[in-house]
Amino acid sequence: MNRGKSGRTRNEGRGSGETTTASSSLFPPSFRITDCHIHIQPWRQLKPAVMETMRRGKEDRFEFLLSLMDDPTLLLRIMDEEGIDRVGMVNYPSPDLMGFTNDTNDFAARYAEADPRRLIPYGGVHPRFAKDPAGEVRRLVDLGVRMLKIHPNHQCFPANAYTDGLDALGTLYKACENHGLPVMIHTGTSIFPGARSKWGNPMEMDDVAIDFPDLPLVMAHGGRPLYMAEAFFILRRHRRVWLDLSGIPPKGLLGYFPRIAELEAQLLWGTDWPSPGVESMRRNVDDFLGLDLPESLKRAALEGNPERLLPTRS
Ligand SMILES: [Zn+2]
Repeated sequence: MNRGKSGRTRNEGRGSGETTTASSSLFPPSFRITDCHIHIQPWRQLKPAVMETMRRGKEDRFEFLLSLMDDPTLLLRIMDEEGIDRVGMVNYPSPDLMGFTNDTNDFAARYAEADPRRLIPYGGVHPRFAKDPAGEVRRLVDLGVRMLKIHPNHQCFPANAYTDGLDALGTLYKACENHGLPVMIHTGTSIFPGARSKWGNPMEMDDVAIDFPDLPLVMAHGGRPLYMAEAFFILRRHRRVWLDLSGIPPKGLLGYFPRIAELEAQLLWGTDWPSPGVESMRRNVDDFLGLDLPESLKRAALEGNPERLLPTRS
């Protein structure tokens, strides 16, 4: 496996197949990193205004990123170069706000076929549109989807909306609980046009954790940048809720969560790449490894905890 840093940037820019042999001293070869949160999605479905937001800041490589969404061999090559063993590919329908239809699930499943061990498809069911939420969850499981994403900001309901009339959401959680299918819930803000950041408050996961005691739950982004106190409370109150670290700039992690070490057993590594501000998967890993945190915590987040939640399927 080659982990050349310069190879990464060159490849992102030009799609070259060359790699370098440079390696990082921060990176013991024994780490088998799972990035639980990257965005490999059918970006060609994005609504024009959303596409513009997505393009911002990455104009120089946007065409490359679009082709990445069509070609898993490109992603696997970047993962090799950056020393990333596995990735979780976040997908969810949001037809009215983002432009993603239910095809996003088939997209993720098809993309993962290029290497089912290393590419882990996530999918979604939209409770405001689904006619048969339980049946659609079953279909996702049959497709090989291993995590269901709920995006309150982009799907326009709070994560506990089943307590206030959105029955389909409760049916969906129950079906996931029955199948043992983990549910990842976005928390924090979103910058895309139309996104409702008021529904990014992690407190709403309190209801979900109480009402679905056997449902594996993942809190994405720790409520950043507005709701860290609520996030930390939920994570300590419900020890089976995982914290996906994506969307939190690693260098700022201890500022956002000074007591992060208390959550060691719940941490999942994630980057949100290639979202705005995330240059590469590897860059974030290096920044995280550079933090003044116990080695055991780093290993747990990067390797051990993702393996417990999403065991490698060979
Ligand atoms: Zn994300």
